[in-house]
Amino acid sequence: MAGNRKIVITIDGPAGAGKSTVGRLLAERLGYLYMDTGAMYRAVAVLARDRSRENPLDDALLTEICGGLDLHMPSDNRGMRLVVNGDDLTEKIREPEISALASAVSAKAVVRRRLAEIQRQLGAAGGIVAEGRDMGTVVFPQAEVKFFLDARPEVRGERRHRELAAKGEKATLVEVSEQLIARDRNDQVRELAPLKPAADAILVDSTDLGAKEVVELMVRLIGERGVEGS
Ligand code: C5P
Repeated sequence: MAGNRKIVITIDGPAGAGKSTVGRLLAERLGYLYMDTGAMYRAVAVLARDRSRENPLDDALLTEICGGLDLHMPSDNRGMRLVVNGDDLTEKIREPEISALASAVSAKAVVRRRLAEIQRQLGAAGGIVAEGRDMGTVVFPQAEVKFFLDARPEVRGERRHRELAAKGEKATLVEVSEQLIARDRNDQVRELAPLKPAADAILVDSTDLGAKEVVELMVRLIGERGVEGS
């Protein structure tokens, strides 16, 4: 089938399903580029909040931000960085308040249009694992392999709570789980590019699997389709 041509692999799914960890490991394993598109929506949210705490969802503001958006994802010895308009926003995009704001800005057409354009440019040559909410449905509908990674909501909430607690955040498990479910719901019901599996996506449930096991499973499924890494 696709031989060892470098292809596009998409991973979509709700928050806390393990997409980032699995996406990074899978890309490493295949010698592919890894693209975290949630980080891009978070970057727009940070820029909008820093420009206007009162009204970060203002259409004119978001249009201006997207018009001048210069976004790079270089890697250094700390891993992948997110550099936007010359500033390293890698840590800032993970602030807890940014999750909900990223979900809100991601419902805006001007933001989705600009980020999809950047994402398609980065993926144009293939050899990429693209992770997000609409990678298989909207941005790369022709992707050779599409995964939809999910897990039971309790498990996703626990994972996100552990991650935040490790960074010293004080939010309780109940608070984190409620926020995560509210954000998924927002992402599922929005009009533009809602979170849902592509019709041809392979559903993978990570509830009872570790990240490495999910990657092994994905590598096997990709191999069954006759696609190889570098
Ligand atoms: O993946 P992450 O949790 O960092 O994404 C933050 C938010 O960005 C999501 O809740 C979603 O609203 C938005 N997003 C999106 N489309 C993508 C990736 C993320 O709408 N492809």
